[in-house]
Amino acid sequence: LPVDGIMGPETRSAIRDFQRRERLLVDGIVGPETKRALIVARRSHQAVGPEPPEPPQSVEEEQFLRSWWSALTDCQIEDRTHLTPKSKRIRQRDPSTVYALVLHQMAFSRGNDPARYNNVTAHYAILPDGKILQLHPISAYLYASNGFNARSVAVEFAGNFPSTRGRCWKAETYGCYQLTQAQIEAGRCLVRHLIREIGLTHILAHRQSSGTRENDPGPDIWYQVGQWAIDHYGLKDGGPGFKIDSGKPIPEEWRTWGRGASQPEFMVEPLRAETAPQFEEEIDPETPEHVEWLQHSLNHMLGLRLPEDGVLGPATRSALRRFQSQRGLDANGVLNLRTEQSLMAAGATPHRHPARG
Ligand SMILES: [Zn+2]
Repeated sequence: LPVDGIMGPETRSAIRDFQRRERLLVDGIVGPETKRALIVARRSHQAVGPEPPEPPQSVEEEQFLRSWWSALTDCQIEDRTHLTPKSKRIRQRDPSTVYALVLHQMAFSRGNDPARYNNVTAHYAILPDGKILQLHPISAYLYASNGFNARSVAVEFAGNFPSTRGRCWKAETYGCYQLTQAQIEAGRCLVRHLIREIGLTHILAHRQSSGTRENDPGPDIWYQVGQWAIDHYGLKDGGPGFKIDSGKPIPEEWRTWGRGASQPEFMVEPLRAETAPQFEEEIDPETPEHVEWLQHSLNHMLGLRLPEDGVLGPATRSALRRFQSQRGLDANGVLNLRTEQSLMAAGATPHRHPARG
């Protein structure tokens, strides 16, 4: 092969030949599996003769790898962080503590005009034409993914996407969409970009942290972007059965969705709406209203006099921890669903969740 640093058809086809020989997934992409196999193959090749000294990585090879990787990770991202509401940025966080990407579907689409997505609570949005918008900086903590918020970036795909049964939530109002090829490619590019930028190691589904968003992001986004990232880059999703709080694990069907013959019926049948909504508005666990309610409840229950100001400061956190440990909960000082249920079981008046923006 010409050593010219270009990932042309010949090089790709050589990679495919190698993958075929090694019984790997034949996709012409040097993912972790293929890379491992290449290293092993090179070692066994060397073992035939007298062992040569390990050659230093040549400048060309290094340049090739670098330019190849930077081409792969160089997605067009439209920076809109100066146009989106700062009020959504709950607090600053250290970007180096962020290691996960949470996949979401918006459950609506407003087409391809970026200006119509300013109010979406996510770090990135991917529009039907494949445009990637950066809505908030990675350093912003957002109420986007429930219990995953602290360590993750949220990525929302525009569209109302079907479940494994081919049904879309409130299709008569929000329509029923098919994930576009451009969205798939943009999602994959964003994964690579975040591996490079923040050392991404995990990819998760919003469903895993939210009991009310079962079909978030749904089988298509999960299979095409989430499962793809696991298969190609060795990212982790917590494994079978992994979920937090009231969330649900990733269904086995999602993991193999694009491989089998099963196709969603919405492609061949007219759209029908679900009779019952699959998910309601998202819960924003620590909004000021919610914290005020928490302070009010703790004051009553523990006989305290916390200021009911909606700010989750050290005194409120410590009272919350006290309540949690009294109730045998994980005393983490986080107002999660289980704690809220426990507060209500202990006599707090129910709190109505404000709708999500
Ligand atoms: Zn979501």
